Amino acid sequence: MIWVWIETLNGKALDASLELLNPGRRIADTLGAKLAAVVLGHNAEQAAQTAAAYGADQVILVDDAALAAYNAETYTAAMHSLVQKYGPDTVLFGATSNGRDFAPRVAARLQTGLTADCTGLDTDPETGIIQWTRPAFGGSLMAVIECPKTRPQMGTVRPGIFACPGYKPERTAEVIRESVSLLPTPRARIIESLGEVADDKASLEDAENIIAGGRGLGKAENFALLYELAQALGAGVAASRGAVDAGWISRAHQVGQTGKTVRPKLYIACGISGAAQHMAGISGAGTIVAVNSDPEAPIFRFADYGVVGDLRVVLPALADEIRRMKNESGN
Ligand code: FAD
Repeated sequence: MIWVWIETLNGKALDASLELLNPGRRIADTLGAKLAAVVLGHNAEQAAQTAAAYGADQVILVDDAALAAYNAETYTAAMHSLVQKYGPDTVLFGATSNGRDFAPRVAARLQTGLTADCTGLDTDPETGIIQWTRPAFGGSLMAVIECPKTRPQMGTVRPGIFACPGYKPERTAEVIRESVSLLPTPRARIIESLGEVADDKASLEDAENIIAGGRGLGKAENFALLYELAQALGAGVAASRGAVDAGWISRAHQVGQTGKTVRPKLYIACGISGAAQHMAGISGAGTIVAVNSDPEAPIFRFADYGVVGDLRVVLPALADEIRRMKNESGN
């Protein structure tokens, strides 16, 4: 059996896990196995139906008030006991914040391997073993990893790599309702959940000017330098995946192969190295300006203008200059 953990939020299945039904289906068909969706939640019937509509053959549903929101202890206990009961061959998790927390805990408890943050999935045609592809050495090469000895084979997969499979609302699946014994009082509990703040600064697709920040910013607080310049210039703020993965800014701001594709007249890339996956999102940009402390940074090969320097010095100076010019022109 190939399992996909269907992550839910307020009882709704998240795309980051539904899209895994796509490679899951391919692997299941190759191996002649069943594709099952595992839904842990409360009032999660709708998520179970959704997983069926996206192609799961079976849905294993644990509906329990203790699973209403993701909790490391209760979720790990629930998944561990399901795996022990059913013995799946493979379990796929979305590499979301929760998935990155959950999957390694389950793998450790089962004493099996886990390949984190995969960008590709295949099966070895001879052995049927899953081949997990993931970037290694900072993305300079792709490693193909196998877990030949222990089961289940487990991995987390980056959101946005696979498209969701076709949605067929009339499709149904066998729903197996399970109950598991859970800790009555887990050591950590959620007191309040704050939804992601709607952020209109993230509507980048139509922005004429964009200032983007990367790992070279060094810390989340330095995005303030970008916002200051963006305000002076009238621009949207974007980010490389490096900055997003560091947790400095929400994924809605990510530009590139697995982020947004933008076509501004002006794109100012600050502390961004210029990886092919980032540049894929700005091939339609008019003028590209790069600010980078490394004169050898690849971004300078694509930029129309380059500033070699520390962005912490360059950006405030640029914002001052723009404000001065605007004052002089009366705008
Ligand atoms: P780094 O590569 O670490 O670059 C940081 C840069 O900052 C360096 O050039 C450094 O010289 C400079 N710097 C450091 N300090 C300063 C300073 N004080 N002042 C000025 N400059 C400084 N990436 C994306 O961006 N978007 C995507 O959609 C995307 N999709 C991907 C999909 C796949 C399948 C894979 C494998 C990767 C993807 N990536 C994507 C990741 C991509 O390969 C790079 O890892 C990422 O773009 C690097 O981010 P970065 O340029 O911010 O960080």
